[in-house]
Amino acid sequence: MKNILNNRISIVITILILIFSACSNEKKHQVLLVTGQSNSSHNWEASHVALKKIIDNAEIFNLDIATSPKKGSDMSDFNPDFKAYDVVVIDYDGDSWSKKAQTNFEQYVANGGGVVVVHGANNSFPEWKEYNVMTGLGGWGNRDENAGPYVRWDNGEIIKDSNPGKAGMHGNKSQFIVETRDNLHPIMKGLPLKWMHTTDELYGRLRGPAKNLNVLATSWSDPKTNGSGNHEPVLLTVKYGKGRIFHTVLGHVGTDKDLIAYKSALFIYTIQRGTEWAASGIVSQKIPADLPNIATPLVLPSYKQYTVAKLFEKAMKYEIGKSKKFINLISQRIRNQKGNQEGIANLENKIIKLLNSSETTSDARNYFCRELSWMGSKKALVVLETLAKQPETADMAKYAIKRLTSK
Ligand code: ZN
Repeated sequence: MKNILNNRISIVITILILIFSACSNEKKHQVLLVTGQSNSSHNWEASHVALKKIIDNAEIFNLDIATSPKKGSDMSDFNPDFKAYDVVVIDYDGDSWSKKAQTNFEQYVANGGGVVVVHGANNSFPEWKEYNVMTGLGGWGNRDENAGPYVRWDNGEIIKDSNPGKAGMHGNKSQFIVETRDNLHPIMKGLPLKWMHTTDELYGRLRGPAKNLNVLATSWSDPKTNGSGNHEPVLLTVKYGKGRIFHTVLGHVGTDKDLIAYKSALFIYTIQRGTEWAASGIVSQKIPADLPNIATPLVLPSYKQYTVAKLFEKAMKYEIGKSKKFINLISQRIRNQKGNQEGIANLENKIIKLLNSSETTSDARNYFCRELSWMGSKKALVVLETLAKQPETADMAKYAIKRLTSK
């Protein structure tokens, strides 16, 4: 009898799990990542794996990968079923697709399919007219004035320049500031207006049909690093029929397989948000707690935000003169609470725990005593009294006690 009952319970649980997973799958956007070839300066084997992780980490997508035949092979059987997906992410620059695959892709986008174009994917298919209309801008591949105008940002507006010349250049790899130009667009809304990107290649002097093109962000391509001397479009959208295209020129992964550009927080966030927008026309993802600023890029090694536990684990080892990354991220999260008493109290508990740990450095203790002085409550007084008796932390602990008791 007991066994029968147990069996029934497990059947019910299994059904509930099936219903639950069916519901959650239903909400997920179907993504096809197209890859398999890149030009000689890029490495698709490395970049597409990072792209997959970034998209998976958003937890709102189901992602499949379509890997093309190797460069120089017969492409006639490469014809992914684009229409089965909400969005197609292109990390591909190589041999032409068959006419059939091209037509299927054109129909898919015209009928409302989404597309995400990443970095070298705008070098692809110079001869495929409709692809160039979709990407809006491209470079290299013998593109010139016949491809369309140069597009740059100048004095608060987009300039389309039809002067003759080659398309595509970049200066030395460097860190550079990305400036939002359309802060009302769903992809950008709520993200910083200016943020420092990790070391990357900044494409310049791209040209293309530039029809129905909206520039979301630009970067100054500095002549000091052999740049173009223009504010170059780096994030843009294009409308093609009923389809939406999100195009990021960021994200260089070279033959050294260095993925630093992909670990930039805003590269990650804009890919995640741009993919959702291209798939659905909206962005439901919240603005992340950890944001880069104008001075320092924010590197996220696992392509996602740190957990609070990880932040504190790193922050307790802080020493003056070394990276302030983790203490700054915690301070940012405190400020982000904006009067949310429960959130503040949780962070205060974690700070108290950090101060009580014998493994915490004196520099970290002093830093968090100062944080407690303005955001803490009387429950912090016990640990502060202890720290006030220790020479390395006495001054800052006494300062915090004074401020908290006079509240
Ligand atoms: Zn590149």
